[in-house]
Amino acid sequence: MSTFVSAREVMVSGATGYVAGWLIKRLLEDGHHVHAAVRDPTNEQKLAHLNALQSDLPGTITYFASDLLTEGSYAEAMAGCEIVFHTASPFSLTVKDAQRELVEPAKLGTRNVLEQAKRTLSVKRVVVTSSYVAVFGDNADFLAGDKEFFNEDDWNTTSSLTHQPYSFSKTEAEKEAWKIARTQDQWQLVTVNPAFIMGPGISPYATSESFNFMKQLANGTFKSGIPNFGVGLVDVREVAEAHLCAGFTPKAEGRYIISAANSSFPEIAQILRDRFGNALPFPKGTAPKWLIWLIGPMIDKTLSRKVLARNIGYPVKIDNSKSIRELGITYRPVQETLTEMFQQLIDEGVVVPS
Ligand code: NAP
Repeated sequence: MSTFVSAREVMVSGATGYVAGWLIKRLLEDGHHVHAAVRDPTNEQKLAHLNALQSDLPGTITYFASDLLTEGSYAEAMAGCEIVFHTASPFSLTVKDAQRELVEPAKLGTRNVLEQAKRTLSVKRVVVTSSYVAVFGDNADFLAGDKEFFNEDDWNTTSSLTHQPYSFSKTEAEKEAWKIARTQDQWQLVTVNPAFIMGPGISPYATSESFNFMKQLANGTFKSGIPNFGVGLVDVREVAEAHLCAGFTPKAEGRYIISAANSSFPEIAQILRDRFGNALPFPKGTAPKWLIWLIGPMIDKTLSRKVLARNIGYPVKIDNSKSIRELGITYRPVQETLTEMFQQLIDEGVVVPS
């Protein structure tokens, strides 16, 4: 499958993350030497799951200290690599200062990594982990145009520092990536734009927002009803495969939406309740929009009235066909993704049924 047959050395930023864990596993299976860029290479606890992989698989890992906000910080990690996978980005829905906590690290970090790629002559391809939230902002956006489904031609035009700031940070970072890519012809940029990622982690103690959402479903946060938010869902293992294909497939180009299904929060809750029964306080139904509109902002600051008004009750309509056609991605059913993730949380004692 490799284009860059000699691409033994590859760099992965944000190597401690949920997505990066599966990507690194696949790279190690294929015998690569992974330059793993992490904030703190001395934090053995955060690296334990990667070290465990390394002992069983043919590839190898070397850790490098890198921070998105420190200029030049990826020079050592990138040296000698042909492919750079840039997955690092703060993923948080609850921030006090969106500019400082989200936009700056996402955008400056992208600039830092991609400018370094321009200075590193071995680099031939850069794969940036963007998001489907760089394609649209609110679910109500799907009603605005004349297309039924959004695809890779679409961009988020409705998020801002004060409205859906995480989505804004991903949009700004991806735009920055394409801007830098156009200033050179040494490497090609490919972006992977995943929907909401679910599925078991290489480490069950992952701190990604994906895990926080699952834990909320189990801890009674939505006991009295879950908001009817439409959401695209995808398994983390398909996201890792998409990164691999984006890196190694000769013809891969542009953006790739990676999404298995257009789903919703109530559907996720239903799948879990069907499989795990009543041992946990899963939401029993959908909360009425008026109730969420009234109390949502008091419970959770990210649920502003504007976010609620423009998202509850609107389905997500995102087209994944380019990823199937050009990268050959096969998506597993979301039932499998969700139940395997939840089972892992139970097996590891992260959630405890009564
Ligand atoms: P994650 O587990 O929280 O991983 C984020 C990674 O970014 C961590 O390795 C973290 O390092 C690193 N990072 C954050 N700030 C950094 C900084 N200042 N300098 C260096 N590294 C920094 O989240 P994830 O879910 O795997 O997300 C990975 C990528 O996928 C992100 O770009 C995210 O936006 C994107 N994405 C995620 C989803 C989803 O549903 N999870 C959906 C679409 C796109 P530390 O371990 O040191 O904190």
